[in-house]
Amino acid sequence: MIHLSDIHKSYTVHKTTIPALRGVDMSIVQGEIFGVIGHSGAGKSTLIRLINLLERPTQGSITVGGENILAFDDRALRNFRRKVGMIFQHFNLLSSKTVADNVSFPIRIAGEKDEKKINARVDELLALVGLSSHKLKYPKQLSGGEKQRVGIARALANGPHILLCDEATSALDPQTTRSILQLLREINEKLKLTIVLITHEMDVIRTICDRVAVI
Ligand code: ADP
Repeated sequence: MIHLSDIHKSYTVHKTTIPALRGVDMSIVQGEIFGVIGHSGAGKSTLIRLINLLERPTQGSITVGGENILAFDDRALRNFRRKVGMIFQHFNLLSSKTVADNVSFPIRIAGEKDEKKINARVDELLALVGLSSHKLKYPKQLSGGEKQRVGIARALANGPHILLCDEATSALDPQTTRSILQLLREINEKLKLTIVLITHEMDVIRTICDRVAVI
């Protein structure tokens, strides 16, 4: 369970305070696909980035699995972040690395050194997202949908409990969007993964979300 309680977040730019979130309360149940929809500037990105503490709230509390994540020290925070995967609108792949190296990147960062284990894990992840035959390609040799599949494989590399999706299908055509949403649904069911997605598209919400918050 992810609980956000009375969350406020404001940014300070040139001594001016910009409020982004004011008094948000939200509970997300383990294993569900939870959507957040709203117009541009409504605070969706800010909200999703609070869940892995890429942003810290100005006020309010956040608990995940009963733990107060705002009180984590650096080490606890690193461990926690490994269990929260994230995918992005523009995929954020490393263009100079192959598909396999993009996917293995977080596994290496987490300290795994056994090449055999890394390779086996990469194969497993690429099979899961349907990209086994693209292992040695570079991002520029892939379609948008394939790039997002690499993003998903990379996000799942360290076995997260939560997957955050920041406008993950907004750069894709409708047919590719459907196939990516179907993949997310399959992953949700197979891995019992909690998925939090933000979008400005009602169709995305209708297609896969169990519950939705409007912001
Ligand atoms: P959305 O994802 O719904 O488009 P955001 O969370 O990106 O909304 O933005 C909410 C508000 O916070 C906007 O007014 C935006 O300009 C502001 N904002 C977001 N990120 C920053 C930042 N890093 N610095 C200053 N203002 C920001």
